[in-house]
Amino acid sequence: MNPVLVVHGGAWAMPDDMVEAHINGVRNAIAAGWKVLERGGSVLDAVEASVVIMEDDETFDAGRGSFLNRDGKVQLDALIMDGATLRAGGVGCVERLPNPVRAARKILSESPHVYFVGEGAERFAAEHGCELCRNEDLIIPREVEHLRRYQQELGQREKAQSDSAPDGNNLFAPAVSHDTVGAVALDRNGNIAAATSTGGTLNKAPGRLGDSSLIGCGCYANNESAAVSTTGWGEPIMKLVLAKWTADRVAAGNLPEWAAQEAMNYLKQRVNGHGGIIVLDAQGQFGIAHNTPRMAWGLKTVKTEEAGVERNTI
Ligand code: ASP
Repeated sequence: MNPVLVVHGGAWAMPDDMVEAHINGVRNAIAAGWKVLERGGSVLDAVEASVVIMEDDETFDAGRGSFLNRDGKVQLDALIMDGATLRAGGVGCVERLPNPVRAARKILSESPHVYFVGEGAERFAAEHGCELCRNEDLIIPREVEHLRRYQQELGQREKAQSDSAPDGNNLFAPAVSHDTVGAVALDRNGNIAAATSTGGTLNKAPGRLGDSSLIGCGCYANNESAAVSTTGWGEPIMKLVLAKWTADRVAAGNLPEWAAQEAMNYLKQRVNGHGGIIVLDAQGQFGIAHNTPRMAWGLKTVKTEEAGVERNTI
């Protein structure tokens, strides 16, 4: 098989002055993952390598530089899944791992369990050779300011609402930016895999887990259907188990490109959700779609290399 690699770096109304950093970030992720695939490396190594690069890049909401939760802390979620064996590794609400996808990979490869959260996840990671850090080491001034402004605006909105109608519903709407990262790949052996990593949504409640690290929601891989990674507002995505929903459409004989667009239509129509998705099948056919104004994406095959912030916008 000829290898294929597709990555994303979030889907939202990215302002013009952030476009270049996002495109550079996804290009670097493609370069790292492709290096693995080119030398005949495994698809899991490839998606892990791509995601690590974006976790290390402060542009994205993953690893250092992630959005802060309501308490001003970074809490990270990640999942990696192997399409050949259906083995998976996930971590949720970790606070001391600069590269949660590395810990997720260790869980996939070295644990009988699939999912670890919080302190137990950090302990497992440390025992298996992953680097731990302080939570402060993951926090950058840009995000301290981001949270401060958001909480101030929220306070004003809450006040305006309680002064008018006593309907608190839209207080739960997320901040508009979504910079979660993900990768899907096909290796020379015909195996596919997916990985997703995130800091979640800005000002989330401590302990809140999003879609990104849940099997079938923000990430899924099965050689018999597709490898999928999503980004966007996690609560609606999780209600639809959207990554699995999309992979099932591919298993039913639809092209990944169609399934990706359908997933975005379904997300909007069924639960008024927003986000972006990348999909790849074991024949190397892929789809990239978003129902947000922009989405950072990159792809590489033996014939082409591309990256951008707009594609298949519905
Ligand atoms: N889906 C992520 C979450 O809800 C956020 C994102 O994609 O930006 O945790």
